[in-house]
Amino acid sequence: MIIKNAKIVLEDKVIETGYLVIENNKITVIHQGNTDEPGIDVKGQWVLPGFIDCHVHGGYGVDFETGDEHRFETFAINVAQEGITKYLQASVTNSLENNQKYYQEFGNFMANQTQIGAKCLGAHMEGPFISPERKGAHEPTLLMSPNIAITQSLIDLSNNNLRMVTYAGELQDGSYTKFLLANQITPSIGHTNMEAWEFAKDYNLGVRHITHLFNAMSGVDQRRPGLAVAALNHPDVLVEVISDGIHIHPDTLKLIYDHKTADHICIITDAMNAKGLPDGEYKLGELEVVKHQMTVALKATGVLAGAGATYDHNVRTYYQACQMPMTELIKMTSINIAKQLGIFEVTGSLATNKLADIVVLDQQLKVTMTIVEGRIVYQNHEY
Ligand SMILES: [Zn+2]
Repeated sequence: MIIKNAKIVLEDKVIETGYLVIENNKITVIHQGNTDEPGIDVKGQWVLPGFIDCHVHGGYGVDFETGDEHRFETFAINVAQEGITKYLQASVTNSLENNQKYYQEFGNFMANQTQIGAKCLGAHMEGPFISPERKGAHEPTLLMSPNIAITQSLIDLSNNNLRMVTYAGELQDGSYTKFLLANQITPSIGHTNMEAWEFAKDYNLGVRHITHLFNAMSGVDQRRPGLAVAALNHPDVLVEVISDGIHIHPDTLKLIYDHKTADHICIITDAMNAKGLPDGEYKLGELEVVKHQMTVALKATGVLAGAGATYDHNVRTYYQACQMPMTELIKMTSINIAKQLGIFEVTGSLATNKLADIVVLDQQLKVTMTIVEGRIVYQNHEY
C-alpha cells in the first residue's frame, strides 16, 4: 500500500509533499516528492503517527468493566475513528471480586486479540489505591492503600497485561512503587492529596508519570504546594493531560505547555462509556452520571465523572490553545507515551521498519483515515 501526496510529520521535520510505502504491517519507505505508482492519494492532508491513549475507560456504549464478552472488540473497532491506533484499557475503583472478574475477562481478550480496530496494549488500573480526599468519581467505600498481594493476583489474572497503575503515593512507603517498577509496570501518581515535597520519595525511586495533571490532585497553592506543583517542577516527569477544554481551561493548557514543553505531556481522554453516544443518563460502574455534550458528571453531585470527549477533539483543543508546530504535537499524542511504555522502537512515530500505525487528518485536524499495523481500520470517505 502507498499513501501519497501526503504532508508527512516526522519526528524532526515535516515533509510537505511525500509518500509512504507500507508492506505487511510496517512502513518500508518514506520519501519526499511524488510517485506515479498507484496508491491512496490523500490530497495534501496531514499524515501523523497514530494516537496512543494511555487512559480510557470506554466509549461507544462500552464500559470495559461490565457487559458481554464482545465489548472489548466493539470499543477497539469504534475508537479507531478518533485516530487512536493503540491504547491502555483503564479500570476504575471496584470491589476485589469485580476486579478479579474483570481482569480475568481482560486477560482472555488479550490472549486472543484479533486485529479489527485499534490495538489494546494492556491495562491501566486507576483505583482502588487512591486517596479518599481526592477520589473524584471513584466509589469511596472501596478505596484502600496500595496492596502488593492484590495487585499481583490481578497481574496473574490479566495474563501479565497490567502496564500502568495510578495510586496515591502518600498511602505507601515506597515499597509499592518498587514492586511496580520491578514488574515493568509504569507507576503513575494521581488521585492524591500529597504535598509537593512528598513526591520526592517516589521520584527518587523512578516514578516519571503523573495521572491527569491538575484533576483529582492537590494543586497550586502558594503555602501548601501539592502534586501539581511537583509535577510542574520536575522537568523529566511526563504528565497526562485531559485537554478537552472542560477538565482544564485552555489558558491552563497553555501554562502546562509552556512549563512542561511538548516533551513531557501526553494527551489522554479519560473517556467513559458515554463517549460517542447522544446526551443522556448513563452509568459509570455503579454510579449514575449525566452526559451533556462533552461533559459527563455525577448525577447526584455534579462532580466531573470521567470524560465524554474524543481523542481527536482533545488534540484540536490543545492545538487551538497553543498553535504548536506539528512536530511538537505528535510528541504529545504518540512519541512520549510510546517511549514511556517502552514501545518506541516499534511504534509511536513514522519511520521505516516501524509498525504502520498512522492517522490522516484534514486541514481542521479531523480524522479522515486510521491505519493500524498496515490495515485501514477507519476511513470517512472513499479515496
Ligand atoms: Zn480515569
